[in-house]
Amino acid sequence: MRAAGHRMMDDMFDHLANLRGLPVWQPMPADVRAAFSQKLPTQGQDVEALYESFRNTIQPYVSGNTHPHFMGWVQGGGNVVSMLAELLAGAMNENCGGRDHVGLSVERQVIAWAAEITGMPPSTSGVLLTGSSMANFIAVLCARTKALGQTAREEGIKTTPLVAYASQGVHRCVPGALDMAGLGFNALRKIPVDADYRMNIPALRAAIKSDRAAGKTPFLIVGTAGSVDVGAFDDLAALSEIAKEFGLWFHVDGAFGALGCLSPSLRPQLAGIAEADSIALDFHKWAQVTYDAGCILIRDSEVHIATFSQATSYLAAAPRGLAGGQPWPCDLGPDLSRSFRALKIWMTISAYGSEKLGHVIDHSCALAKHLSQRIEQSDVLELSAPVPLNIVCFRVKHYTDTQNANLVADLQEAGLFAPSTTILNDQLAIRAAIVNHRTQISDIDALVDEITRRAVQRAN
Ligand SMILES: *Cc1c(COP(=O)(O)O)cnc(C)c1O
Repeated sequence: MRAAGHRMMDDMFDHLANLRGLPVWQPMPADVRAAFSQKLPTQGQDVEALYESFRNTIQPYVSGNTHPHFMGWVQGGGNVVSMLAELLAGAMNENCGGRDHVGLSVERQVIAWAAEITGMPPSTSGVLLTGSSMANFIAVLCARTKALGQTAREEGIKTTPLVAYASQGVHRCVPGALDMAGLGFNALRKIPVDADYRMNIPALRAAIKSDRAAGKTPFLIVGTAGSVDVGAFDDLAALSEIAKEFGLWFHVDGAFGALGCLSPSLRPQLAGIAEADSIALDFHKWAQVTYDAGCILIRDSEVHIATFSQATSYLAAAPRGLAGGQPWPCDLGPDLSRSFRALKIWMTISAYGSEKLGHVIDHSCALAKHLSQRIEQSDVLELSAPVPLNIVCFRVKHYTDTQNANLVADLQEAGLFAPSTTILNDQLAIRAAIVNHRTQISDIDALVDEITRRAVQRAN
């Protein structure tokens, strides 16, 4: 087992070192798909044979976000320190739901660092989660507790017509969170955006007033720091002012953008984030921690605990011994059994330091700027939206939506590049989000050259 483990470790380093020579993604052949619809194995096999099937049927067909040519959606590339941390965590097999052990100290350290990065006070509460989808959900539940108190937990929400506000560019998990919280998708007012894709502030104010006049109960404003479509930042300072004026909870969905605080050049765009009641952020995106590594920060720890704690005899706190060390993560979120997620985050931040992580963020924005300049200089390509951050939306000018979508699928299936698509102003756009620390300027140039070559070839 030890020898197999050493081989796996060497192979993984080789794999990461040689990524650029591999396809970014390749579709699974039928026999590979079929390999995963087998009957339950009643007998085991040795780890060498099992590792061979991993090498043949799993490793070549992963989604490719470690690859420098992966630019789809918003996905981090991971890093080797985090990879090693996962191995160490696996050996410890910590259950970080509660109790008094170092796993929770590491997690509290990571939460304190996240608060420091975003400018939240040291007393900020928080918990690590799968991702920002879950973090946004927890924020909605805390805001609900703040608005309705414990009765909402005891009796359900009954008929109080709570309403929340976010920009049109809000991530789909925010309406999803309102749905899961029992408030319904329609509790979310999607406020129009301006030309820079930022929430229109007068429209927000008008919506709150009109809801109040109609007998509704506004309770939550969600500001987006780094929208998925184009990477726009809402005016968080203005949103915070309005939230204070109307007595609403102010949450920031900073899934990837919140860590822009690590970059001195981006920090001004995040002005106001430190005023938030809660912030959702992901270490698995710009901070390059391996999946999954989400985080919620809650300014008021009492509201946070009041939203999740339950008294149960089998999980009772003790003044000493292993059952000490309250509050436990199981009183800060829905999970009881939890992995030692904190270790890979703590090791990544400790290994590289916040400045270097800030440079990675700056570098991805510089690459996006370079890409946008190449598109502006091009005769065949055009930008579909401004490029304030690390996301570039563009299209081949003379292509229809279908042709642009096919081009993206062709590049993916050829294993060359993996951008994704989105719809902006009713037009399909090719979307390249530069998040991976392995991506270089030559990769960006290669992308533009390849798309141009294909587009010109087709036109002739
Ligand atoms: C990625 C993202 C989410 C969802 O986060 P997960 O970690 O994928 O659950 C939410 N909001 C924004 C703005 C995002 O970029």
